[in-house]
Amino acid sequence: PISAAPRMRSKADGRHDVLMLVNDVSEWRRLERMRSDFVANVSHELKTPIAAIRGFAETLLDGDVDDEAREKFLRTIYEESLRMGNLVSDLLELSKLEASDSHVDPVAVDLYEVLVRAVDRVRPVAQSKDISIELPRPQRLHVWAEPDLLLQVFLNLLTNAIHYSPPGSQVCVTWDVLVDRVKVHVKDNGIGIPRESLSRVFERFYRVHKDRSRASGGTGLGLAIVKHIVTALGGEVGVESEEGKGSDFWFTLSRLDARP
Ligand code: ADP
Repeated sequence: PISAAPRMRSKADGRHDVLMLVNDVSEWRRLERMRSDFVANVSHELKTPIAAIRGFAETLLDGDVDDEAREKFLRTIYEESLRMGNLVSDLLELSKLEASDSHVDPVAVDLYEVLVRAVDRVRPVAQSKDISIELPRPQRLHVWAEPDLLLQVFLNLLTNAIHYSPPGSQVCVTWDVLVDRVKVHVKDNGIGIPRESLSRVFERFYRVHKDRSRASGGTGLGLAIVKHIVTALGGEVGVESEEGKGSDFWFTLSRLDARP
């Protein structure tokens, strides 16, 4: 709040209040800038597929197109509409998360069971690239989470690991059981991330590999969603990666039997 209630105070106190006021104003400006950047980004992200869809549809309507070009244009229209669909679902997911931030009510969740559900969902895409997914051995390990949100975290990390890896490679999920937490890793032998981008990949709409993200229908929001969910569940996220070698995305969650 931008208010400094008037009261009797010493000079030093007054200076403190002014400082707090300045801090509040700059924090407010920062949030305001973030909000308008976000709206600008969303508009830009939507404009690109809309322009492509409109352009190709116009060409098709003009009529003078052979069968091969028609097929190509229709495919682009279809793919761009899928991308718009993904973007809208991711935006809805983020806004739902923001609205319910303080209301996430963690329950005991079987980590292995949720992982298997996620792997079953991504298996067809992995198989289409001949990528194998290695899992930890089956283990009854309960963490504090929300099943659907945890599923989303696994889906986003596994989908990325598959998209940013070459055909025939391997994606590997492991975890370390620590005293109070579990640290889960999703590792790939893919294209990796340059060092200077590592601190930014969890930002909304930040992409390292723009063309590849586009080609796979990526929205640039997957990792922002992962970070949001894990933070709301009281955990941490991070990534280690080497260009050309692969990436190790990790997150932590509290263990069931270690809650205070
Ligand atoms: P996108 O929809 O573009 O994949 P994400 O938020 O999921 O958006 O990821 C942000 C960016 O981080 C991606 O565009 C990609 O450049 C990079 N990235 C994410 N996961 C990986 C990975 N496993 N290997 C290499 N780069 C990755």
